[in-house]
Amino acid sequence: MPQRKLFVTTALPYANGKFHIGHIMEYIQADIWVRHQRMQGSMVHFVGADDAHGAPIMIAAEKAGKTPEQFVAEIAAGRKQYLDGFHIRFDNWHSTHSPENTQLAQEIYRHLKASGLITSRTIEQFYDPVKGMFLPDRYIKGECPTCHAKDQYGDSCEVCSSVYSPTQLIEPYSTLTGARPELRTSEHYFFQLSRPEVVEFLKAWTQDGKLQSEVAKKAGEWFEAGMADWDISRDAPYFGIEVPDAPGKYFYVWLDAPIGYLASLKNHFDKGQAKNHWHPASRTDASFEQYVADPAVEQVHFIGKDIVYFHTLFWPAMLKFSDRKTPDQVNVHGFITVSGEKMSKSRGTGIDPLKYLSLGMNPEWLRYYIAAKLNSRVEDVDFNPDDFVARVNADLIGKYVNIASRAVKFVPGGKLVAGDASALNHAGLVATVKELYETREFGKALREVMAFADQVNTRFDTAAPWKLLKEGKGEEAARVCSECLEAFKVMTACLKPVLPELALEAEKFLNCGTLDWDNAVKALGAGHQVGEYKHLMQRVDMKQVDALFEPPAEAGAGAPPPQPAPSGGASGQPPGGEEIAPEITIDDFTKVDLRIAKIVNCESVEGAKKLLRLTLDIGEGKTRNVFAGIASAYKPEELVGKLTVMVANLAPRKMKFGVSEGMVLAASNADDKAGGIYVLNPWPGAEPGMRVR
Ligand SMILES: [Zn+2]
Repeated sequence: MPQRKLFVTTALPYANGKFHIGHIMEYIQADIWVRHQRMQGSMVHFVGADDAHGAPIMIAAEKAGKTPEQFVAEIAAGRKQYLDGFHIRFDNWHSTHSPENTQLAQEIYRHLKASGLITSRTIEQFYDPVKGMFLPDRYIKGECPTCHAKDQYGDSCEVCSSVYSPTQLIEPYSTLTGARPELRTSEHYFFQLSRPEVVEFLKAWTQDGKLQSEVAKKAGEWFEAGMADWDISRDAPYFGIEVPDAPGKYFYVWLDAPIGYLASLKNHFDKGQAKNHWHPASRTDASFEQYVADPAVEQVHFIGKDIVYFHTLFWPAMLKFSDRKTPDQVNVHGFITVSGEKMSKSRGTGIDPLKYLSLGMNPEWLRYYIAAKLNSRVEDVDFNPDDFVARVNADLIGKYVNIASRAVKFVPGGKLVAGDASALNHAGLVATVKELYETREFGKALREVMAFADQVNTRFDTAAPWKLLKEGKGEEAARVCSECLEAFKVMTACLKPVLPELALEAEKFLNCGTLDWDNAVKALGAGHQVGEYKHLMQRVDMKQVDALFEPPAEAGAGAPPPQPAPSGGASGQPPGGEEIAPEITIDDFTKVDLRIAKIVNCESVEGAKKLLRLTLDIGEGKTRNVFAGIASAYKPEELVGKLTVMVANLAPRKMKFGVSEGMVLAASNADDKAGGIYVLNPWPGAEPGMRVR
């Protein structure tokens, strides 16, 4: 078989936050597949990048008092500790906010335009007159037109689940400024996905067997519903790439995001990393342009099930109609759940990858566990703490690691003797496992290895070398144990894509050089000298797993963290249960007008157990109505007559029970189970209306 050439990517993470366990799962999946490919000598270029554009990043940066460039650069700087920490080896990590991506996105757009597939149309869209920008749907809220629930998002109602367009909202408001948005017109550019030649191409492309069957089926449903043209432009202000020859227009972030795959590959090639690749089989003198045009190169994407639409319709269409190669594989995985529950930051379930590492937990335990649960289908992966401990301790360590330590004791001087090579089917195991890695059936691959380990352990136990030794049959003991060490070597090769560090240590012990699929089955042979055995892997301690899921105090045990916990106190936990917010300038602070307020009246709110309605006087000659979520901590009569501090220039907010005209300040731990709520109270002498600065 000729050497395969593979261009492999994972989905580009949005650069508005840190990696979560879902990202890590995807990178581990792709990394295992890539390591398998390297073991069979494929030329692989495996790249990732930050997805850095779009309104959410522009707005988050502004809130943090940073330029978008600064904001995404800081996010990018935090990526390495996760990737290194979990032994995920990308060849290159880049950004969609880069010269390469600008060049490629504009090239592809020009090509699509020349092919007659770009059209423009005037659309009506909500505009925030205070902010001076068109509002993406997610920044518009209002009353649901169906069930009249307040404060619902611009696209769907969380109460009754109805779906609508933002223009149908009753009393819409901008979540950025509270202003009532105005309908304004704007010219937008569209990629005409509804054109017959495009639809025909996509139907064939999605149904020719390259996609997982459930993904192909989903695509089929989309065609039945009909293809609409795709709105690919946004108006300034926007953090993105300019549309050529269209002043004030930018590409919608989802147009340039997948092009970031090519941009990262180009950056990798242009830096000379492909020519001098760390993996010899991946070295090439080809330029980026030559490489991506090479018909032998297979383009392989790993993505989550939430972005299938973009990767099976928009992306191949963009490539095809700009005369580029289209993807060969789009491998879709499900989400990760914890004990059957979908992760949620607010509920606090889920696994914090950095906390995992800082507890001294071995990253390869997680790699092994995730691999054991992965298959080639679009299924969710559940992390079950008891199952995690059982699989690592009983299977990985109990069955595989322990073979080496048990067997080596009976091989005098560590010098192997000739054994019965046909006792165990080494070649059969390797062939099966290799094929299972190829088809991303990682769980099955590991089950095969563990079934093989059972056979090896049975052989060891049946032969009982410790008894043989007592009976003066030391040579027979050495023979059986040499067989076991040969089998350990084969298993090491089979586990290597999943457990690269452990395999490296095992290779040192076996003194066998670098294992790959070719040499995996070649016996070490009689006379081969293995090294000194050192313990290869610790068992999981249930206490570590408990600490992973529980807040403060119990954390901090184990090995020193690879990186200090972010802005933590002595316990490694952030103060008050949350990170200090990004730095702001004094100008940002003075935008907030804080005033001493007198609570002239306070009453409970019917139908809202958590809320109190406060009537506040800040010396304006009128009072203000403010709702505060403090009913769990205070009785209304406790507050009447007291002074507190309020935000006096917060945009009025319409709630179900009336309009809230400000906010009172109160302290609480981020975890509301960890303590109460404490309303701020100034020292005696402060008067209503005084500014707090
Ligand atoms: Zn509703």
